[in-house]
Amino acid sequence: MALTGIEIFKLLPKTNCKECGDPTCLAFAMKLAAGKAELSLCPYVSEEAKAKLSEAAAPPILPVTIGVGERALKVGGETVMFRHEKRFENPPGLALLVSDTMSDAEIDRRLEKFNKLQYERIGLTLRGNLVAVRCDSGDAAKFEAVAGKVKKNTDGGIILMSTNPDILAAGLKVCADRKPLLYAATEENSDKVADLAKGSSCPLAAKASSVEKLAELTAKLTSAGVKDMVIDSGSRTLRQAFEDQLIIRSTALTKKFRPLGFPTIVFPGEMTDDPMKEAVIASIFVAKYGGIIVLSDFQGESLFPLLVERLNIYTDPQRPLATKEGIYEIGSPNENSPVLITSNFSLTYFIVSGEIETSRVPSWLLVKDTEGLSVVTAWAAGKFVADAIAPFVKKCGIADKVKHRKLVIPGAAAAESGGLEEELSGWEIQVGPREGSHIPAYLKTWKP
Ligand code: SF4
Repeated sequence: MALTGIEIFKLLPKTNCKECGDPTCLAFAMKLAAGKAELSLCPYVSEEAKAKLSEAAAPPILPVTIGVGERALKVGGETVMFRHEKRFENPPGLALLVSDTMSDAEIDRRLEKFNKLQYERIGLTLRGNLVAVRCDSGDAAKFEAVAGKVKKNTDGGIILMSTNPDILAAGLKVCADRKPLLYAATEENSDKVADLAKGSSCPLAAKASSVEKLAELTAKLTSAGVKDMVIDSGSRTLRQAFEDQLIIRSTALTKKFRPLGFPTIVFPGEMTDDPMKEAVIASIFVAKYGGIIVLSDFQGESLFPLLVERLNIYTDPQRPLATKEGIYEIGSPNENSPVLITSNFSLTYFIVSGEIETSRVPSWLLVKDTEGLSVVTAWAAGKFVADAIAPFVKKCGIADKVKHRKLVIPGAAAAESGGLEEELSGWEIQVGPREGSHIPAYLKTWKP
């Protein structure tokens, strides 16, 4: 059972040193109990207390990692019902289904799509995460061969899907080193599949026919020593599966009910035969509260919106997306190319850089760190004003890249032009357009 705030408080140093960011040990203890702080924030907890507190400090939905290396996928670790309460922690994994009864050509086509369908957006690469290999043939050798092919041709995470422990073991033979998710332990096979998971140190999915039975199954697997689990309540209608997601999340969070405190796995493709409806159902689980979403196929027109939805929901609402401060080259600029400056709010950066690209005028774009604020907000907050911009322009090295000394500032920061000319001796400050969409026309008439 999880500890109460007072029980946790008794194990803390009680010095109220504030290093954890909270004014008192009691306040920190209350946050820990609510799953809204991490124990590692207090540097003074004794090892003995750490051991006792580990359960209380763990998030109510335990994190689980599938795969290894750069493409390892971490899901779970969630602490809130609603994003605005704090933030959602780990985006759900999107998985592409491959069956061992598919033809070689079809499997190749799917793996190629898995590798190819990736998109650059605000400096991030958006793509699917996992390939789910399902045994429909009942043939362990065939399953092993397909699992081997998936491992060889992709670097994403792998889900091995069968309720037959011998077939799962065959799949594991070829890809245990990639730490696949074993799907699934059920009431009938739990002992053998739990042994497989423990023996290979792989995460395990538990599947039951209701939320109640699922809680019994995970309690049994936990007693057997399985720690890393993903859960499937077995529902295959949208309404029931959605209700289950809400029940699982709220029971784990508000009741601190450990048997349901795991990330979930859902199968929108088993709830409809219509690809567009499947995408809509998947989008519901991206928002609430799928941990892994297995899609019957990847189609660009549905995958991309799901990836963008996931990106938007799993950004931290308290921290704007920011681009790194620095000089960005757009279209191979040279010493006579224009120099523009903007803030590091990612959306601003991508609008401005996109408009510069559209102009086809190679340019230097200086991105000033404004803590992720847009130009107007940063200007009002004193973060995009002459005093802040000038030191950055001096130290960023742009003076070594261009022969001219002309700097184009956004129209929204026009009031800074006089101050900047004083601070940046030798530079001519030019006021650019207020609207990003006017940048192409502006640049086409710009002269060094
Ligand atoms: S850092 Fe630790 S000792 Fe200091 S106030 Fe926080 S909980 Fe208490």
